[in-house]
Amino acid sequence: MVSYMKKSLGSLAGFGNPDLLPPAELLAEIPHHEDEDVDDCTGCANPCADHKAYPSNLKIELDFPILGSVKPYGRHIIIATGCSDWPKHIEDDNGTFAQSLSNVQRTSQPWKNLMTNSSLVSIHSTVPDSCDVMIFPDNIIVSNVTSDKAQDFYDLFIGTALPTQPMDIEFMNKDDRLDEMHIIKNPYKTLLLLCSHRKRDKRCGVTAPILAQEFDHVLREKDISEHEAAVIMVSHIGGHKIAGNVICYTNEGTRGVWYGRVKTCHCRPIVEETVIKGKIIKDIYRGAMDNSFEKQKKRSVLNW
Ligand SMILES: [Zn+2]
Repeated sequence: MVSYMKKSLGSLAGFGNPDLLPPAELLAEIPHHEDEDVDDCTGCANPCADHKAYPSNLKIELDFPILGSVKPYGRHIIIATGCSDWPKHIEDDNGTFAQSLSNVQRTSQPWKNLMTNSSLVSIHSTVPDSCDVMIFPDNIIVSNVTSDKAQDFYDLFIGTALPTQPMDIEFMNKDDRLDEMHIIKNPYKTLLLLCSHRKRDKRCGVTAPILAQEFDHVLREKDISEHEAAVIMVSHIGGHKIAGNVICYTNEGTRGVWYGRVKTCHCRPIVEETVIKGKIIKDIYRGAMDNSFEKQKKRSVLNW
């Protein structure tokens, strides 16, 4: 009975509003047995003995409909901090680039942007107290970004039209307003972002390191290098009650697919279907970055 209930709720979430799903041809078909003791999303036994489970006291909401649970956003700004946990509200964290960027004067845009900290290390920055900042869907990294340059950074990279084609980086690097900032193409083919923001909610803090370990294991086993698929930790993205939360940026950074209620059993299907084949796993699909899919009718049930 329990397994039947889980299945019907999963179907509800998956079929709630078909307009919220990506185009049908992109949906993954995961081979599974008709045996009802097998989870048809992962192909693992239910319960699974092969993959590490989360602590049993972790309250993940199993009946919350996750389809459409991503607030629409046009750009994702990912700040390299080298850490995997941050103060509860990164925009109030004194002296950080996240705080400076939150306080700039914004131009009016018909979309919202998402800003997170990340565990990325600022390997491209040489100026003291500067950091690297990655931007999607622009698919670039800006280095030598400092807090006192937040307004210039915003004007150059955020308060602008969303890209419709790959950025002309050589041309962009000639802009005088950059000062010491420098732009490079994002060197990672795929990025797997895990919300690890423990000071915001314990559930993401607990699930992210467990998932990271399993993703590393699967990626290593398949001989996928860090440049082909890198796993990084990010601050709050929304949805801790449906942890683990994973965002997959693929297709030259133009597609950002959000998964929720991700368990270790999903790591292999995510790598096989989403990282390698570019397919989307319906049962854990929350939504996507704006413009990820050409033919998408409706993106979310949420507003900012
Ligand atoms: Zn499993």
